[in-house]
Amino acid sequence: MKIYLLISGKYGSRVVNNLAEHGMASNIVGMEEFPQDLPEFIEDFTSYIPQNLPPADLIIAVGLSGDINMIVTYIAQETGAKSAIIPVYDPQQMPPGLQKEIQESAPDVRIVFPKPFCSLEPVGDAPIDEFATRFGKPVLFIKSDRYIKKVEVLRGAPCGSTDYIVRGLWSTPAEEAESSATLKLHNYPCNASSDTDPAVGDTSMHLASYQIKEAIKRGLGFAMKTAVVDPEKCNPEKCQEECIKSCPQVLIGLDTVTFNPDKMAEIDPATCGYCEICVRECPLDAIEIKSGRFKLNE
Ligand code: SF4
Ligand code: SF4
Repeated sequence: MKIYLLISGKYGSRVVNNLAEHGMASNIVGMEEFPQDLPEFIEDFTSYIPQNLPPADLIIAVGLSGDINMIVTYIAQETGAKSAIIPVYDPQQMPPGLQKEIQESAPDVRIVFPKPFCSLEPVGDAPIDEFATRFGKPVLFIKSDRYIKKVEVLRGAPCGSTDYIVRGLWSTPAEEAESSATLKLHNYPCNASSDTDPAVGDTSMHLASYQIKEAIKRGLGFAMKTAVVDPEKCNPEKCQEECIKSCPQVLIGLDTVTFNPDKMAEIDPATCGYCEICVRECPLDAIEIKSGRFKLNE
């Protein structure tokens, strides 16, 4: 697979270095770096289009903010690429209107906007999926008894944060690994913004922490904290199903809140980030955050 990269800033460089360190250097057929101080609104992109573009299968734009992201569709046209990834790490970087404009300007190119990059999973598009089997939403193999004995990264965040986090997990008490991973992510120079994204009601930084927590939980087979629905109180006929409408994980495409055959809301402890948003939104006070040891479904 041939990848053409468009990068800007330290985050862009970090992603390139991480891909190269993980054996992807030979897949990168070209790269263009943009300054970070480009105007937010750009009328004419022609002067920004690199010369002599090589054929490519996948365009990845990392760290570009505002209208310059529109260039992805021009580059796709010139390189023949039919797939593109534009990770969203900040609400200002990619307002919903711009995302729609990019999509509409290239209807024959499959463009995904993972929010953030470490939430990327295969989507049924060959080049995106080839990339997403190795980079995106973290997946870990964990061997443990009461303590973490071994952690292997099966899929890591494109910025390299997963490797950094797992390096510090060895010998951590298994029941503390989830919270320890969150702290370590906050120590990593993660590019995800701490501004609330109005489209999901939460910050990209929190969304990034939910993804690494999920990897730890799935690796261990249990969660230590989750939102839980009280079936005695839940009554979707008396609410507007606020829990499912407000859950940030649902809003980025996960099945964190679902309705069971009895039409009661259910929350998946594997993906619940215990942000408490649904707790506040449920008009019947049917949800609370509980700590314990919640076994995950296979
Ligand atoms: S948990 Fe609350 S908001 Fe969700 S369906 Fe039940 S009553 Fe409605
Ligand atoms: S606490 Fe509620 S809103 Fe937050 S992630 Fe869990 S289910 Fe979703």
